[in-house]
Amino acid sequence: MPFPTLLADFVGLVFPQVCLACQDPLTRGEDHLCTPCRAQLPYTDYHRLPAEDNPLARRFWGKLPIEHAFSYLRFQKHGRVQHLLHQLKYRGQQDVGRVLGRWYGQELAEAGFSTAFDLILPVPLHARKLAQRGYNQADSFAQGLATGLGCPWQADGLRRITGTESQTRKNRLERWQNVAEVFEVAQPVLVASQRILMVDDVLTTGATLEACAAVLLAAGAATVSIATIATADR
Ligand SMILES: [Zn+2]
Repeated sequence: MPFPTLLADFVGLVFPQVCLACQDPLTRGEDHLCTPCRAQLPYTDYHRLPAEDNPLARRFWGKLPIEHAFSYLRFQKHGRVQHLLHQLKYRGQQDVGRVLGRWYGQELAEAGFSTAFDLILPVPLHARKLAQRGYNQADSFAQGLATGLGCPWQADGLRRITGTESQTRKNRLERWQNVAEVFEVAQPVLVASQRILMVDDVLTTGATLEACAAVLLAAGAATVSIATIATADR
């Protein structure tokens, strides 16, 4: 057995690597997720559907011209996906975003989207939250997608320009107006005529992504597409 493998096995005994979705110990050859979790994650496969059958794409109809709308996984309460997102968002496990992004990017590339985008931009986090958490959970997903798709990404292509009030007690329209005011394109020249892929960890109402897409289109982006790790679609 070669020394690096022995060393890895020894390190594994002392610091066992666990599956990011179920916490079971990983065996050799498993990459961040155990084989059963990887096989049983609730993949949406929306990128294999015609746009008219893609429920995520349909959500933006009549609102904004979103070129492609993809989400890797279905959000399930108390399930593996919720656990993965929790690890990413609150436990500092940015590997969750990087690994899922890389796998998803490879799948999208294999499905014919390898040259579909010019630039990947994560939805920016509020400065106060960024200071608390120390990182934007959408960055690692953008980074992983960039690796898988072979496409550049940029952390600060979009900026939040003011604080937002708590979103919980607002209705949908108020929420949209609230977030619509707070994004701006950092350098319009970088997005002009570009096919942008906006990414975030989870899509709930879609209001944040809509607001980002609106400012990108206003800044002259050729097209805007979206991809998230998970969606609360049923
Ligand atoms: Zn697992």
